[in-house]
Amino acid sequence: MSMYVEKVLDDVKLKNSGEPEFFQAVDEVLSALKPVVEKNGDYEKFAILERMVEPERLIIFRIPWVDDSGKIRINRGYRVQFSSLIGPYKGGLRFHPSVNQSIIKFLGFEQVFKNALTGLPIGGGKGGSDFDPKGKSDAEVMRFCQSFMTELQRHIGQDVDVPAGDIGVGAREIGYLFGQYKRIKDAYEGGVLTGKSVAYGGSLARTEATGYGLIYFMREMLKSNGGNSFEGKTVTISGSGNVAIYACQKAQELGAKVVAMSDSNGCIYDKYGIELNDIKRIKEVERGRIKNYLINHKEAVYTEATAENPFPIWSIKTDIALPCATQNEISLDAAKLLVQNGVTAVGEGANMPTSMEAIEYFLANNVLFAPAKAANAGGVATSAIEMSQNSMRFYYTFEEVDRKLENIMKNIFKSCKDAADRYELGNNYAAGANIAAFTKLAEAMIAQGVV
Ligand code: NDP
Repeated sequence: MSMYVEKVLDDVKLKNSGEPEFFQAVDEVLSALKPVVEKNGDYEKFAILERMVEPERLIIFRIPWVDDSGKIRINRGYRVQFSSLIGPYKGGLRFHPSVNQSIIKFLGFEQVFKNALTGLPIGGGKGGSDFDPKGKSDAEVMRFCQSFMTELQRHIGQDVDVPAGDIGVGAREIGYLFGQYKRIKDAYEGGVLTGKSVAYGGSLARTEATGYGLIYFMREMLKSNGGNSFEGKTVTISGSGNVAIYACQKAQELGAKVVAMSDSNGCIYDKYGIELNDIKRIKEVERGRIKNYLINHKEAVYTEATAENPFPIWSIKTDIALPCATQNEISLDAAKLLVQNGVTAVGEGANMPTSMEAIEYFLANNVLFAPAKAANAGGVATSAIEMSQNSMRFYYTFEEVDRKLENIMKNIFKSCKDAADRYELGNNYAAGANIAAFTKLAEAMIAQGVV
């Protein structure tokens, strides 16, 4: 038991009361670092942990906008600039009614470690708003994005802070945000936002990158543990947004049978395998509910999410489970159900979708576990590739980006495995990811002095 880790955790709890998600993320990382911190007194001497848990800056702002009926609406905006140790702050924007300071800080904290794992020169940040794009017209979304950027533009820049998408922020929102930024700055800073459409500086394969990257990471993990693969495996994937859709596409390409997907209202089960084109039409074109899948697939079954059972998808029997919706969707109870039903591997596409108790349960029951900060890092890695294309004023082909992504995911897996091996942690890649990222960040922090 490291006294230093315990002391910092106590302090974080005290100083950030009312921020349970942030504490959960810090607890998960710091607990994994105990063996590392115990071996090297410099980390305490240089106050590395204290500095890592304190964001460099947190910006909170008002976003006034006018809805289609002429009513004035007010939302709250956030940007946490967590760490610029190894590059400009980098991380997505989330528009969802659940967004608050705790959620933005947990996401920003995780992002710092994730970005370090990519091996690319990007620091960590995150932002968003409690605005709900669901049910809003395009014009309302545009007015909101313009108002959001009117404040955010003071704090970002292609060498300062580079936001991207996350839940509720896709190509449409990034377009409106970029347009307003360009208009205010009167300059074409292509690299100030990533996830742009290819028509004006986006990278090919960015849309696919997080989902594809998750599957590339899982493929490495399966291969390294008994030479397994996706071929012939049953897979369930929560969510039906950007990450879930492209994870499904790549898993199907590799021969898996994806039998279930979900949205915040419920989940669908199709024993013949999900017809992904129908999901894409419903979610990407019609912006509808996943239940509509049943219109063309009478044999599929729909289960409504309830307050008691908000994620019914985890009751479905599967070989591989990929949580790709939101934080804390796999509770200990859900983990027990998955194990009882024979799950062999779990891969986090979403950020912190698995509770700490559930992760421990999976590891104790020999379920391979791919942690978010490693497994879903393909999105931000490809964002960094988008930034470098913008700087070079040049485009890579889809195949070139995809190949780079595949290599990055292989390297991330290797870093996690090497760190786990070094500390004799078996296949605990969650701890391996935390240790590998921490070691790199701590080295940079010591080198840069007390800042
Ligand atoms: P999208 O907005 O495209 O999709 C989110 C999906 O998750 C939707 O199907 C949504 O359902 C569902 N969902 C969201 N919140 C909840 C909730 N509280 N309960 C149940 N279902 C919910 O987002 P992304 O696919 O981009 O992001 C998904 C996850 O992946 C997030 O955790 C994000 O942080 C993480 N991530 C995303 C990256 C990216 O590149 N996009 C990169 C790395 C991580 P509904 O349609 O009903 O809202």
